[in-house]
Amino acid sequence: MTRVAAYAAPAAGRPLVPFVVDRREPRADDVEIDVLFCGICHSDIHQARDEWSGATFPMVPGHEVVGRVRRVGATVRRVRVGDLVGVGCMVDACRTCVPCRHGTEQFCDAGCAWTYNGTEMDRVTPTFGGYSKRLVVTERFVLRVPDGLAPEAAAPLLCAGITTWSPLRAYGCQRGTRVAVAGLGGLGHMAVKLAAAMGAEVTVLSTSSKKEADARRLGAHAFCVTRDAASFEAIGERFDLLVDTVSAPHDFGDYLSTLRPHGTMVLVGVPPTATPLDAFALIHGNRRLAGSLIGGIAETQEMLDFCGAHRIVSDVEVIPMSKVNEAYERVVRGDVRYRFSVDLATLPDV
Ligand code: NAP
Ligand code: ZN
Ligand code: ZN
Repeated sequence: MTRVAAYAAPAAGRPLVPFVVDRREPRADDVEIDVLFCGICHSDIHQARDEWSGATFPMVPGHEVVGRVRRVGATVRRVRVGDLVGVGCMVDACRTCVPCRHGTEQFCDAGCAWTYNGTEMDRVTPTFGGYSKRLVVTERFVLRVPDGLAPEAAAPLLCAGITTWSPLRAYGCQRGTRVAVAGLGGLGHMAVKLAAAMGAEVTVLSTSSKKEADARRLGAHAFCVTRDAASFEAIGERFDLLVDTVSAPHDFGDYLSTLRPHGTMVLVGVPPTATPLDAFALIHGNRRLAGSLIGGIAETQEMLDFCGAHRIVSDVEVIPMSKVNEAYERVVRGDVRYRFSVDLATLPDV
């Protein structure tokens, strides 16, 4: 066991405070990682505040991890000491069930091991996430970060990147696809960059009129402010695919109304409360409403390799660990351009 400095929420909604976690000695197939940077995902906030219920405390959030390999177990072959690597939302799964064999470990029949707010596959040992100086993760759940990507800006790819990549790929985003991205936050800005790099015609649907210049700089071709029913009516039926990253309750019907016939809206944002839906919003135009949960490990590597080839990273504001509570408030207020990345070097050793 190694004692490692971390930051934890001691109970639901309480500010995060310094904390110490024990990391296991690397087993034969383990990789021990010195965490360099960890992104702050809105899901960290939902869970630290127990907005989805069932959260366990103390909680060390963080599932957008980039670090350097410090030690490897005897059988590890894919990474070496000194390599730049990433860890996302999962640290293990059963590895044998159909979803695991098909590369959708997030739907493991046994339930995957989430990076935090969960347990290892023994279902006893709690997992603690990336707001900590070191992680020990089985090789199979460690991703290679391509050369040339700045580690602080690559960290958000491990959740915001894969969560938007997966539905764009699954629903056929390609040259000329008319894609709308609802919400220009951490996930939304990655969706814009990725969809634009795939050749799509990208429109941002945002509640913040001040984000238009950013949206265009990120690669969007059009920008619509969505405040009321009239603003959705003005958009008309325009999109083949809409990726909804909105974190707060909102009317799905309004967004569905912007789809062309047979268009698809994919929910990736997880508002804390349920949303009623008028059946006509789907029936008119044979529209489809879908959901998407992060992405599998092989798919995550594919996304990272694409980002390496296209030089795509997140726009980040790097902060010290001590500013995490302030950063949470700012994310909730929509005051981040477009992801906080915590510098773990600012967390003193225990
Ligand atoms: P974020 O940075 O806070 O972005 C959310 C964006 O939603 C905001 O920037 C804002 O964009 C928009 N928004 C906020 N309140 C709104 C409202 N009342 N009406 C309309 N738009 C509103 O959060 P994030 O880290 O990107 O995460 C987004 C959501 O995805 C969260 O719920 C998170 O838990 C979830 N998530 C899901 C997965 C998955 O696997 N499905 C993975 C990661 C995260 P504008 O200012 O442009 O309007
Ligand atoms: Zn996340
Ligand atoms: Zn499985």
